[in-house]
Amino acid sequence: MGYDFKITRTASPKAKPDQTALGFGKYYTDHMFLMDYDEGQGWHDGRIVPYGPLSIDPAACTLHYAQMTFEGMKAYRNPEGGINLFRPDMNAKRLQNSNDRLCIPRIDVDLFIEAVKALVDVDRDWVPEAQGTSLYIRPFIISPEPSMAVHPASKYWFIIILSPVAAYYEGNDKELHGSRIWVEEEYIRAAVGGTGFAKCGGNYSCGMIAATEAKKQGCEEVLWLDAKEHKYVEEVGTSNAFFKINGKVYTSSLTGSILPGVTRDSAIRLMRKWGVEVEEKRLEIDDLLAAAADGSLTEAWATGTACVVSPIGLLRYRGENFPINGEKVGELSQKLYDTLYGMQTGTAPDVMGDWVVTL
Ligand SMILES: *Cc1c(COP(=O)(O)O)cnc(C)c1O
Repeated sequence: MGYDFKITRTASPKAKPDQTALGFGKYYTDHMFLMDYDEGQGWHDGRIVPYGPLSIDPAACTLHYAQMTFEGMKAYRNPEGGINLFRPDMNAKRLQNSNDRLCIPRIDVDLFIEAVKALVDVDRDWVPEAQGTSLYIRPFIISPEPSMAVHPASKYWFIIILSPVAAYYEGNDKELHGSRIWVEEEYIRAAVGGTGFAKCGGNYSCGMIAATEAKKQGCEEVLWLDAKEHKYVEEVGTSNAFFKINGKVYTSSLTGSILPGVTRDSAIRLMRKWGVEVEEKRLEIDDLLAAAADGSLTEAWATGTACVVSPIGLLRYRGENFPINGEKVGELSQKLYDTLYGMQTGTAPDVMGDWVVTL
């Protein structure tokens, strides 16, 4: 509270894009948030300026050694014309944990939330209102410090940019559908002791090769197995994975290689509130495939800010297909999607009381 960010408004606002063809990350708003860190001074000079290119030294250490962290969250237009954020405190805390891992100084939870709110407020006309659309919020931290030495920087930039984005299911009549998932056995996403629990750039560049292989196999995403034994189910692409077997729901425990999703936590809490049994544990791929084969695996889905809930229709493993629920969307997946999306967009009540922040 009480942050006084200097606001410099653009002299040339851009035309707003067509809300029916937003795509993902194709358009950016008129402004961005910037804040500097200097050793001895801490974070200072939070400000909102016109959106535009950064001038960065080619020796900036982030460009070479990927010392950086980021977050992903969304703002939705609510039926009253206001704007809803969803559990922004969770993103603020997760960024602190990511920063700790990457040796980047922490940003106070309040400061993070106020910066997000201030920027979204300045660009509030950019929050789209068409069904399923939202304003994607990308806070990130990089270092502009010229240094070829491998050590933590002493200068950083905290930046927030905003992008109006389409419904995740834009091409599919905005309906949930079951996606096809490739079980990846060669490449890994993250190892215990590494950076899997942090949102940092390196985790994503190393996964692209597996996603490319999945596409070749006719699948949309990758199911990651653990790095050490290639035996336990971890995540789906850049989303957390859930499996309903014999009426009970399983998701991987937070072993250190799992990204603790805000949607994951929200789904677990909602299901427990509904009386659904949820267990966080390491699930073996062999047990999962056996359950798919004998029909006791009745639903599977992924969770993340981008998709909210994305049902899994089929697992492809060593050239063999394992359909789930006839590749149709399950009842619990649909209920979770409707409830979470309803809360986020303000078309359903915030049954948890303090998850939705309105501005
Ligand atoms: C961001 C992310 C998720 C989902 O987290 P949410 O907070 O729900 O958006 C899951 N897995 C990975 C690897 C991620 O980067």
